[in-house]
Amino acid sequence: MASDPTCIFCKIVAGEIPCFKLFEDAETLAFMDINPVHDGHALVIPKAHSPNVFEIAPEDFAAAARTATKVAKAVNAAVRPDGINLMQANGEGAGQSVGHFHLHIIPRRAEDMLLFNWDPKPGDPAHIGEVADRIRGFL
Ligand code: 5GP
Ligand code: ZN
Repeated sequence: MASDPTCIFCKIVAGEIPCFKLFEDAETLAFMDINPVHDGHALVIPKAHSPNVFEIAPEDFAAAARTATKVAKAVNAAVRPDGINLMQANGEGAGQSVGHFHLHIIPRRAEDMLLFNWDPKPGDPAHIGEVADRIRGFL
């Protein structure tokens, strides 16, 4: 299984750094974030090292998603938030600080003012269509 000796999350997988483990299976690990936004903020990682969505094997992403559905339900039951965001960052520009693919399970509280939210404003359909064309060109 791919591992990077300099990666903090690989060290957690290897048991070299402690964590508050929530769940583990052959492919994934879920544990508490040490800088929680709110009580219950958890992370789900594939055990295999890959830095981001651009490089992760689809089956590792699928395994992490499967574990996230399980852990999100448990977080929801345990801390009864007003909602939960699943969040995942790729690259510094997106706020990624640890270069091992991870899903955040973020319990939300009313008016917590987390900046990830934005005011939905209708886009220009023609422009949306043009951007969709550009994206399809890479699929
Ligand atoms: P990112 O900023 O890459 O989306 O998220 C990385 C997350 O990992 C942050 O929320 C940060 O608090 C968490 N984190 C960083 N180092 C450690 C660690 O050693 N243990 C745990 N449990 N979480 C960590
Ligand atoms: Zn790693």
